[in-house]
Amino acid sequence: MQSETPKHLRHALDVLRTKEGRFDLQDFTFAELAQLSIEGLGEKAYRGKQLFQWLYLHLAGSFDEMTNISKSSRAQLADVARVSALEHVGSHESADGTNKLTFRCHDGAIIETVFIPSENRNTLCISSQVGCAMGCTFCFTAKMGLKRNLSASEIVDQVAQARKLMGEKNGHIGNIVFMGMGEPLHNLDNVIRAIHILVDTNGLNFSRRKITVSTSGLVPQIRRLGEETDIQLAISLNATTDATRSSIMPVNDRWGLDELMACLREFPLDNRERITFEYVLIKDLNDTLDDAKRIMELTRNVPAKINLIPFNPHPNTPFETPSEQTIDAFQQYLLDRNVAVFRRRTRGQDEMAACGQLGKPGDKEPAHVRKRLENFRNQPPSGDSSASA
Ligand code: SAH
Ligand code: SF4
Repeated sequence: MQSETPKHLRHALDVLRTKEGRFDLQDFTFAELAQLSIEGLGEKAYRGKQLFQWLYLHLAGSFDEMTNISKSSRAQLADVARVSALEHVGSHESADGTNKLTFRCHDGAIIETVFIPSENRNTLCISSQVGCAMGCTFCFTAKMGLKRNLSASEIVDQVAQARKLMGEKNGHIGNIVFMGMGEPLHNLDNVIRAIHILVDTNGLNFSRRKITVSTSGLVPQIRRLGEETDIQLAISLNATTDATRSSIMPVNDRWGLDELMACLREFPLDNRERITFEYVLIKDLNDTLDDAKRIMELTRNVPAKINLIPFNPHPNTPFETPSEQTIDAFQQYLLDRNVAVFRRRTRGQDEMAACGQLGKPGDKEPAHVRKRLENFRNQPPSGDSSASA
């Protein structure tokens, strides 16, 4: 048992005592639910285990279903606790089978989760924030700005509900990627808590090898993620010089490529693991063979896998997708030099469910996004891209 009671557990114990307020059961780790059962319900620790199993093995939607929990404990909990953090409000299936699930949070915020089927293993792309503060100019979600962080329960419930919704029809969800709305490392406490719940063998039991957190490159948080979890890491590289990267990703002003790559060289990996570098290919911006060469140089001392993502267009963007020929030449250049490079098939584009297409922005993008976009419109890049294939 932990020596110190975490804040949200203290809050839940207070709520159980005073009946003022509400809390989400999915916010708690296995050990914390045991503690809640003992201290909050006056039960034995195994009640916590049973609660955890109802949430994540049986995917219960209400306290009524939890038949092996005593009636009095169920009544006590039903007064003040929620079983589900999210309400499923829509599903939009694309022609390719990708399914964008929409959920409403208790405060009315809408979040999106994308189910991506494949022959061997289905993937769930989950959100970590409502909107995003990072302001990458090519990203649709950036236009929302940041509304708020998601709680651990709102992150975990995307997985629990998707398993329930998609499970019977489409089979198992084996992979989780934090590549939906938001910058996961900007909400690290809740993301780490959610990961601990997702991998718990008493519940959803995801393999740490099958969970990937994608980040725009927040260096101190990458270090902390490496120390406190052992899941997979993906970095949105997206450019190979500081000038180009800063022009599309404000985070690069704070942590440039040198600092980012230095931190990745030290990221704890065992022999078989690699860091994934996502690279959104944008026409005439970062799609030259010089860029391909620089990707190799940048990642030379890091066990790396490169994921090329042709830019997914969205309304009013000044950016364009490179031609098939350019994309092929870029990939071939790297393949010829034995780089592990993959091209991500664009999925769900017709339902705006593809990378960088999630969210519901207002009419105007936030000022910091607008400013960089104006720079781009006024001064289209030259230098880096002159040798386009
Ligand atoms: N915030 C995190 C995770 C969510 S974004 C991150 O940036 O890594 C998930 C991926 O979508 C990132 O690699 C991002 O570079 C990519 N992306 C964003 N907008 C895109 C677009 N319009 N087309 C293609 N990929 C995009
Ligand atoms: Fe945020 Fe990622 Fe979009 Fe950048 S690419 S704005 S970090 S969601």
